Amino acid sequence: MNYKSTRDKSEKTYSAAQVIKQGLADDGGLFVPESIPTLSAAELEGLAKLDYVGRAADIMSRFLTDYSYDELLADCSAAYCETSFPGGAAPLVSVHDNLYSLELWHGPTAAFKDMALQLMPRLLVRALRKTGEERTSLILVATSGDTGKAALEGYRDIDGVKIMVFYPVDGVSRVQKLQMATQEGSNVNVCAIEGNFDDAQNGVKKIFSDREFAEKLNEKDHFLSSANSINWGRLAPQIVYYVSAYCDLMNSGAIKNGDVVNFCVPTGNFGNIFAAYIAKLMGLPVGKLICASNVNNILTDFLATGTYDRNRKFHCTTSPSMDILISSNLERLLYFVAGAERTAAYMESLAKTGAYSISAEEKARIDETFVGYFADEVATAESIRTDFERYGYLHDTHTAVGFDAARQYIEQTGDKTPLVVDSTASPYKFAADVLKALTDDVPSDPLDALDALSSLTKTEIPYPLCGIADRSINFSSVIVSDKMADEVLSYLAK
Ligand SMILES: *Cc1c(COP(=O)(O)O)cnc(C)c1O
Repeated sequence: MNYKSTRDKSEKTYSAAQVIKQGLADDGGLFVPESIPTLSAAELEGLAKLDYVGRAADIMSRFLTDYSYDELLADCSAAYCETSFPGGAAPLVSVHDNLYSLELWHGPTAAFKDMALQLMPRLLVRALRKTGEERTSLILVATSGDTGKAALEGYRDIDGVKIMVFYPVDGVSRVQKLQMATQEGSNVNVCAIEGNFDDAQNGVKKIFSDREFAEKLNEKDHFLSSANSINWGRLAPQIVYYVSAYCDLMNSGAIKNGDVVNFCVPTGNFGNIFAAYIAKLMGLPVGKLICASNVNNILTDFLATGTYDRNRKFHCTTSPSMDILISSNLERLLYFVAGAERTAAYMESLAKTGAYSISAEEKARIDETFVGYFADEVATAESIRTDFERYGYLHDTHTAVGFDAARQYIEQTGDKTPLVVDSTASPYKFAADVLKALTDDVPSDPLDALDALSSLTKTEIPYPLCGIADRSINFSSVIVSDKMADEVLSYLAK
């Protein structure tokens, strides 16, 4: 099976290895499968008998046909092993009535990005070999928090790859900063930038577009690569847990094979919810996909009106991983409902005017599956408090947005279909804000919030965040953004 660019109406295709190595198509489009592999009821029955690793290898092998099943099984076994995901990779927890929480944060950085970033680096290394690449891949990342740490953990000690992460010195939380500064691994480097996230991101973009710099790297047998969320190698692993959740619901007796299930996804870049859509296209019995946003509700508006308009105020919220005005992966959905030519035109309009409007027909196709709701800051905090006080279940801020959206949907539609909400981060990753939703007694140091949350809720701090204040600091340099390219070169000289 091959891949196409969302903006190319020609028949040009690429192998999975090419797509994973390249990340973005030459025309600026995103890679999508040219056809969707199917999943029959009988095959689903078989998958239900397997563990997460077995389910993952099976689903991945349907999309990455130039990888052997044995290669994928080895990579999935290493990625989702017991040491990295103690107790299982994506456990499904019943919260109340028909509402379930799909906990995607049991990995090494306590956020759902691990589900993709533990597997993707292994797929990349194989892609380099399959495409005859002999140079070392240098991954550059600008991060506002979660992605940087998850990428560092995913790429650490992987052969043939080095990774360098830049973060804004005052733009990430205390816990996030410590998580990155204490990073271990023989092929990693972390550097803080004076300025905000845009400064870090612009610096990285500048390096990527600098031909001379690429030539210098080439002389040193290196080439630049990105760990960006638009890479198909990050999206494909996310399809697996929708299938897995369905299997778990069958195994628990909550549904029969063939019964419809809805999913609600706290959304930023639209990657996670798009993976659910692919699972539905494969034949997984999925009804509605509920797109949950915070007050940066550009997607709620798009799904309601068919107009995407980024000309609006940006809000900083307690669910920062969803603070986003351009949801890149939405382009993939547009491709499936409108085709390459119209997608290219919409993206051109977005770049020029910051907006585009889809046709009534295209909107109707999206409406068959998607519906959007948003939660403001008050509703988010209330969602945390209510679910903890009534059901003893603790959400992080992003998941709380999801549960609020899920309940709005149920209230408005009366739909009694089982509804699985993606839980995208451990509550401890955002301990201070979670604590604030539960009590007025919040310690002034955000690190103390971890212990305070644990003793208040009688829940355990997950292993990646345990004792984080006592770990040794491996990276402490802070530079101005003009010096980022020099920093990369001096890292390679080491
Ligand atoms: C990245 C992230 C999201 C958003 O996921 P997308 O795939 O970008 O839509 C939601 N919650 C958390 C905690 C995240 O880290």
